[in-house]
Amino acid sequence: LKFNEIDLTEEMQRSVSEMGFEEMSPIQEKAIPVVLSGKDIIGQAQTGTGKTAAFGIPILEMVDSKDRSVQALVLCPTRELCIQVAEEMKKLGKFKRGIEVIPVYGGQPIDRQIRALKKGVQIIVGTPGRLIDHIRRKTVKVDNVKFMVLDEADEMFDMGFRDDIALVMDKLHEDRQTIFFSATMPKDIINFASKYQKNPEIIKV
Ligand code: AMP
Repeated sequence: LKFNEIDLTEEMQRSVSEMGFEEMSPIQEKAIPVVLSGKDIIGQAQTGTGKTAAFGIPILEMVDSKDRSVQALVLCPTRELCIQVAEEMKKLGKFKRGIEVIPVYGGQPIDRQIRALKKGVQIIVGTPGRLIDHIRRKTVKVDNVKFMVLDEADEMFDMGFRDDIALVMDKLHEDRQTIFFSATMPKDIINFASKYQKNPEIIKV
């Protein structure tokens, strides 16, 4: 299926075609309609499968550009992945006026992040530790979060971020969508997902 065969906004069609995407990848074909329909997803996918756009496109389509509060959180294991995911989401959101995406990770001066956050951003792509730091400082408020994404969940669990992630999840509104992507599906991830997701659609590619 091609991107131009599905119902996306004109702004999204423009950015997708500017990025050179024509055919949807299998994960995109499966995940985009499910996320757009409001459902949770637990997806098994490796890097390189196009999973960033699989959650990025529907989230960008659904966040409210007129509301400057944080509406989506994407948690990633490393700073490199944070930067990469944020860049891809910025490109996908290029023609959507008023939507801001910001990467927030450890090792970067926090003052600079705080200044950027103060302008109002809808989408934060962050590492768990630094995100918690911002939540504690109240430089990030999560009460309006409607989309929570765990990218490379298995990596984050291996790195010991499980409790940090739970801490963030516990602060979120019940009424939100939760999207988990992981290359492997160990028991720990399945259990965690069953605690925090509602009727997730299981997707494998
Ligand atoms: P990801 O798995 O999200 O890291 O994506 C891997 C690479 O594939 C990135 O460089 C994307 O920009 C690119 N990509 C994602 N979806 C598509 C698509 N449908 N067609 C062509 N390239 C894509």
